[in-house]
Amino acid sequence: METYTERIFNFIDGHAERISKKEGTMYLEAVLETVRAWADGKIGPEAEKPSKEEVRKGLQLAMLKGMKESAQPNHQMTPDSIGLIAGYLADRLSGGKPYVTLFDPAIGTGNLLYTVMNFMDGRTAASGSEIDDLLIQLAAASAELLAQPVTLYHQDSLRPLMVDPADLVVTDLPVGYYPDDENAMNYNLRAEEGHSYSHHLFIEQSVRHLKKGGHGIFVVPANLFESEFATQLHTFLKGEAEILGVIALPEGLFKNRANAKSLLLLRKPDGRTGPKPEVLLAQAPDLKNANAVSAFFGKVDAWAEQNGYKKA
Ligand code: SAM
Repeated sequence: METYTERIFNFIDGHAERISKKEGTMYLEAVLETVRAWADGKIGPEAEKPSKEEVRKGLQLAMLKGMKESAQPNHQMTPDSIGLIAGYLADRLSGGKPYVTLFDPAIGTGNLLYTVMNFMDGRTAASGSEIDDLLIQLAAASAELLAQPVTLYHQDSLRPLMVDPADLVVTDLPVGYYPDDENAMNYNLRAEEGHSYSHHLFIEQSVRHLKKGGHGIFVVPANLFESEFATQLHTFLKGEAEILGVIALPEGLFKNRANAKSLLLLRKPDGRTGPKPEVLLAQAPDLKNANAVSAFFGKVDAWAEQNGYKKA
């Protein structure tokens, strides 16, 4: 039998295929038009009260299909398995707070942020910024459909941001060189010569937009601390943030080893003295392996309890 997720995907896909043929638009643009019409109540799938996760997953399948067709280098949605691990970590790092503000400076389609928001449903409000016009419109239409409170900014996130400091930054960083050398001059993590690493500047910008005592969950290249700018990054982090953990993500999620990613967990110091938290070093399992998943979440829970993070 068709699941609600499949039904939602088939509904979006059917509409989007028709629109893109009739109007000669890109499939991804037609997905946007479909999602907007659904959010406005003009059309809708035959699914009685689907859950927010079923809606998000249906949307995700349609957007993934569109991204495969348009093949733009920045159209990279964060895979679900990373989102679920990030959701679990975000929940634990929020230390049981009833209300948490989130920020994603590279929100893309919103898939990562909304996975986390659905995980902590009803306890979060978020801001997101993104440079790509189509992706931010998809993120806005999806937020409306998922009834997640999000304020969006269409801009270069490395330019000044109007975002209030957040409790938690959750983001999948754009990796590579930042082309605007002049703006990079505003960052400690700029390169002395030539282009700077965009992912390093994003870490610095994110830390600036965290409240004192706030946390960051970053999807970063697995070799983050092995690059030519690693020493500079270490020095910055020593002064501005505590490293709480590094979680290697399963290599199977990425096309090849060179593209492998990890999760970097940071905390912005708040002047509190006392013992430094232990650094959580772990390998995230393949989510299909139920025993390994429960052992992994058990390790995260044990670490969280030892370091004073209460459960929600
Ligand atoms: N988490 C997102 C999702 O689930 O769809 C995917 C994030 S993707 C890995 C990185 C995003 O950063 C891309 O959407 C890209 O357009 C955006 N980006 C790259 N440079 C940017 C900049 N300077 N300012 C704002 N966004 C930027």
